[in-house]
Amino acid sequence: MKSTITQMRVLAVILVLASPFCWARDSKKDPDQIGNRDVGKGVNFYSLEKEIALGKQMAQEVERDAKIVDDPMVAEYINRVGQNLVRNSDAKVPFTIKVLDTDEVNAFALPGGFFFVNSGLILTADTEAELAGVMGHEIAHVAARHGTRQATRGQLANIATIPLLFAGGWTGYAIYQAAGMAIPLGFLTFSRVFEREADMLGLQYMYKAGYDPTAFVDFFEKIESLEKTKPGAVAKVFSTHPMTDDRIRDTQTNIQEILKARPEYVLNTSEFIDVKARLATLENRRKVERPDGNRPTLRRVPGNGSADDGNSGKQGTDSDERPTLKRRD
Ligand SMILES: [Zn+2]
Repeated sequence: MKSTITQMRVLAVILVLASPFCWARDSKKDPDQIGNRDVGKGVNFYSLEKEIALGKQMAQEVERDAKIVDDPMVAEYINRVGQNLVRNSDAKVPFTIKVLDTDEVNAFALPGGFFFVNSGLILTADTEAELAGVMGHEIAHVAARHGTRQATRGQLANIATIPLLFAGGWTGYAIYQAAGMAIPLGFLTFSRVFEREADMLGLQYMYKAGYDPTAFVDFFEKIESLEKTKPGAVAKVFSTHPMTDDRIRDTQTNIQEILKARPEYVLNTSEFIDVKARLATLENRRKVERPDGNRPTLRRVPGNGSADDGNSGKQGTDSDERPTLKRRD
């Protein structure tokens, strides 16, 4: 009898202790609480400052190896769409958003808010809302501090004494190679739990920014079919957490259960269409200049006719021989 009472007391204590956690979990599902809830809470060896410094270092590595799309119209637009989502998110760090010149359908945000969107992703999206869905997902990884929390877990689990950066050759510490970048894969691929959370939070961010949340599902489905028809087009990082049916189902459930239907949503903008067309033109020009798309070559810069690797234009037609000048609008 006495033990039963003790058990009940213990149970009561557990319930009292557990209730704030239940509340915390619910607040993550309440878009009205965006910005006023600590979605990045969890065991973390990294201070926010340390996280930003780490992300910055990795971002410099990315920018050293990859080509940034610096066309002002494209860069400014993508940054603006992204910053608007960030403003409607739980993120506590400022974001730096850049476009990477690569066909792979991908985007990734490094710890501390260093966010790269591939041109391939922009060109694959049919609407601004689809793009916003993927961007919201990536912003959610940063807001919830998934990268450093996962690294912390790795350290706790003593998988290895994880040297923070670029320790080549250690198995399980694979290097992200898709674009020749030296970013530990652990910071780019996340556990299923984190992926699911990023889906759920990102969906709220795009919704709060005014976009139609069903566009996120549309894009999932598109990626899924793209993986089947053109396996190479989707970056390895994307395929390590595939667009599975349960992610689509969960997202549909979240749309119904946690987002109050609105009378109007933004689906697309004429600006998105313009930027996409512009990007396609730039990409086509790149392919003409660089017929062997896999081989990085120096690009001819206006006013610097000697910049050439001796590869481009050799077997080309007369028009290829002509120095191309960038049109300034
Ligand atoms: Zn993700």
